[in-house]
Amino acid sequence: MSNVKTYEIPVDLKQLITSNQAFHYRIVPVAKEEGVLKLKTDNQDIKGLQNELTIILGCPVDIALETKEEIQSYLTFNYRKTTVSSSEKLQYEDQFLQKLIATAKDFGSSDIHMEPYEKLCRVRFRLDGKLKEQYTISNTEYPQLVNQIKIQSGLDISQKRLAQDGRITFKEGTDEFDIRVSTMPTLYGEKIVLRLLNRNTQEVSLNDLGFTEEEIEEYREAIKKPQGIILISGPTGSGKTTTLYATLKELNKETTNILTIEDPIEYTLQGINQVQLREDIEFDFPAALRAFLRQDPDIIMVGEIRDDRTAGMAIKAALTGHLVLSTIHTNSAWATISRLIDMKVPAFLLANTIAMSIAQRLVRQLCPHCKTKKHAETRDFPQGFEIPKKMEQHYVAVGCNHCYHTGYMGRKAIYEILPITKELETAIRHNELQIDAYIEKRKINTLQDNAIRMVADGETSVEEVYALLADN
Ligand SMILES: [Zn+2]
Repeated sequence: MSNVKTYEIPVDLKQLITSNQAFHYRIVPVAKEEGVLKLKTDNQDIKGLQNELTIILGCPVDIALETKEEIQSYLTFNYRKTTVSSSEKLQYEDQFLQKLIATAKDFGSSDIHMEPYEKLCRVRFRLDGKLKEQYTISNTEYPQLVNQIKIQSGLDISQKRLAQDGRITFKEGTDEFDIRVSTMPTLYGEKIVLRLLNRNTQEVSLNDLGFTEEEIEEYREAIKKPQGIILISGPTGSGKTTTLYATLKELNKETTNILTIEDPIEYTLQGINQVQLREDIEFDFPAALRAFLRQDPDIIMVGEIRDDRTAGMAIKAALTGHLVLSTIHTNSAWATISRLIDMKVPAFLLANTIAMSIAQRLVRQLCPHCKTKKHAETRDFPQGFEIPKKMEQHYVAVGCNHCYHTGYMGRKAIYEILPITKELETAIRHNELQIDAYIEKRKINTLQDNAIRMVADGETSVEEVYALLADN
């Protein structure tokens, strides 16, 4: 029996954790009994460690506290810090991150989702509005990648239990753009979403969006008005912001004073005074609007009408000689009118101020390389949907190398424009809202009409616009 203490850990035990893990968490394995891995550490947060390691090592762990000196001896004796220094290691991760972002950018994707699960982490790209898995990362590498992202975006790396928001400016050659970073604690670690803010959005003009010729003419007519309110509705991700920016770009002249209040400011526009909403200091939409009205604006863009007070203030601004542009969460151009009335805007004020109501959606376009013709059958369409008589065939998505096997390539907006005529004004004022007859008579193209037109033209699939066609 020797009283010389040995720090050597048996090989089979030693292999259960990597050097990186040993040094990162300051843990050493002691035994594995009945599937439970027994570890020692000098890290005081045993409970936190227990949770994290159960996930990372993929087995139950039992951790005991040990002195710093003991742990250090075990580490030095058994594990070697990889020859890569920690700064080189960060650089390596930085390169991975750089590559990840560059690839996402090349694909034309708008968001990168990184999600830790029990065994591995999944990295998905959003392409034309839909998520698609691109990589998997081992659970042991993921925490380092998270730290790297958090360092670059100025977030607190030690805070893992609260959601955080930050920003990275990404540079590649002469290309430079912003990335919005958000973290969220989930069961197996922090989920990270990187939103790639495409500065090219500033270059998008109204002509590029997807309006038909008649629609764009009507729209341009409305935005030329010196006062009134123009509302764009649609769910999140329907491209409302892009339409607003393209509109502001067109209205942006030396002779006009344009103020915007946004949450968040997604893109910066030269020559336009953009203000960030700060609800934490009570600088909300109504407060900003009040301040704006003292700044002699011609055009005001309010990011979103979310509540009664904002609706009231926006209408008031529109009444007093300003053109107001905003977005609202409704499903159709018509629903916007009733939504505003629900928000306690008096019908007569609404009738006097509303200049145009638009609904929009983004629709993925079929990949021209692999789309495949199919005979049109009733069962391809939602129940009750009347298939246009002329439609004998339509196209379905297949997937090929050109479209990263999604079957789609690019998106375009479809619109539903409700121009406000004298007749409609009177109807709103008297609360006589029989919209079906009005739409019929005015021959307004609804979102559904525009969706089926894209199907008929072979531009998109029935599947892509199914929800719109089913909506009656
Ligand atoms: Zn394809």
